[in-house]
Amino acid sequence: MYWEKDVETLSRAKLEKLQLVQLKDTISRAQKSFYYGKTFKEKGLNVNSVKSLHDINKFSFTTKDDLREHWPYGFIAVPKEELVRMHSSSGTTGRATVVFHTAHDIAVWANLLARCMYMAGMRKGDVFQNMMTYGLFTGGLGFHYGAEKIGALVIPAGAGNSKRQIQLMRDFETTVVHVIPSYALHLSAVFNELKINPRKDTKVKIAFLGAEPHTEKMRKKIEEIYGYKAFNSYGLSEMNGPGVAFECPYQNGMHIWEDSFLVEIINPKTLQPVADGEEGELVMTTLQREGMPLIRYRTKDLTKIIPEPCVCGRTHRRIERIKGRTDDMLILKGVNIYPMQVERKLMEIEGVGTNFLIVLDREGFNDLMTVKVEVDRKYFSGDMKQLDALRKKIVEGLKSEILITPKVDLVEPDSIPKGEGKAVRVVDNRKD
Ligand code: ADP
Ligand code: ZN
Repeated sequence: MYWEKDVETLSRAKLEKLQLVQLKDTISRAQKSFYYGKTFKEKGLNVNSVKSLHDINKFSFTTKDDLREHWPYGFIAVPKEELVRMHSSSGTTGRATVVFHTAHDIAVWANLLARCMYMAGMRKGDVFQNMMTYGLFTGGLGFHYGAEKIGALVIPAGAGNSKRQIQLMRDFETTVVHVIPSYALHLSAVFNELKINPRKDTKVKIAFLGAEPHTEKMRKKIEEIYGYKAFNSYGLSEMNGPGVAFECPYQNGMHIWEDSFLVEIINPKTLQPVADGEEGELVMTTLQREGMPLIRYRTKDLTKIIPEPCVCGRTHRRIERIKGRTDDMLILKGVNIYPMQVERKLMEIEGVGTNFLIVLDREGFNDLMTVKVEVDRKYFSGDMKQLDALRKKIVEGLKSEILITPKVDLVEPDSIPKGEGKAVRVVDNRKD
């Protein structure tokens, strides 16, 4: 039931005692980085400023912009030769944030994932098909190392190539999969097409669903289609990647590993802590990381602490399913897209007008993105060739920027409704 019973069931008092020691270590280590060395000095902070966990409040928040501004090595807290791996966020959002790990960091991360997968019921002897992108993205390699640690047979399938995924699943009798929820739904359509019933014709009993927000309804639907148990998996590259918080067999919120992350939930406007059980932005401090410790990192993800202890016996607190982001980032087919990227690209193209609107729909199991673009009136003079050429140009431009191919509708100037104040850039019609 437990991968590391001692740590997973530590009493609250002991857990907090451990966290205090770890926090002090983290502050000492972080101080060696260019960024924290500078910011601690400005505030007169050092390891002696930490007498209790509460003293974390003395330190400033760290944001994604801070990481970008000090790219690539401003947050490194060890000599560069100690680093063994780098990962990054998807990189579709302008300059990707990069995270560096030492061998110790990779080992800690693998252990966290082993805990997660073991908690959900995966064991040595299982065949684990990892249907996530390998490479800089953390989802592939993160799970891979954790699964090997448990001793499962890992099929490093990577993302996409649906027919091959199904073939692998059947040929090697996969019992556990790791998959992006929207892809799980897409894949079910391919199963249908091939007239293979995933409930009867595969041996999969457990799925880990991660990397993008999904509702309880979507989970249920996936469980129903496949006849397996689907566990919510949360993480972000800045906190390693997957393995930050994960569901236990009770599937009621995700245990967040508090021996690796110091958790705060804040009101994103006032930046003040909210009470347990209240919704806010998740903020985390790494507690074990050597290569690139992060202090009070603002995830921009909205969630809340579930204050009640969990019946599974683990004492690490649970967070609720992520509600969304405080910013306006869209996640489509696992790719992160900012409306500003669309705007930036559109504004480069001659003939494009002043307004645009992103409309997201779900058709069957597919997420569709339509970008309505106002273009100069001259394009509506009847020359369809000219209009079509512009449309193609916009599609290609957007594709190169956001990595997925949107549908583009060209419309006449002033035809997209404009309200007072800020423009509405996104209409999300996706429903589970
Ligand atoms: P980026 O930092 O560019 O977004 P990541 O791949 O690190 O790239 O994505 C992490 C983000 O993905 C999280 O901050 C969160 O918004 C989202 N995410 C990951 N897993 C989940 C999940 N299980 N539920 C909801 N959102 C998730
Ligand atoms: Zn539990």
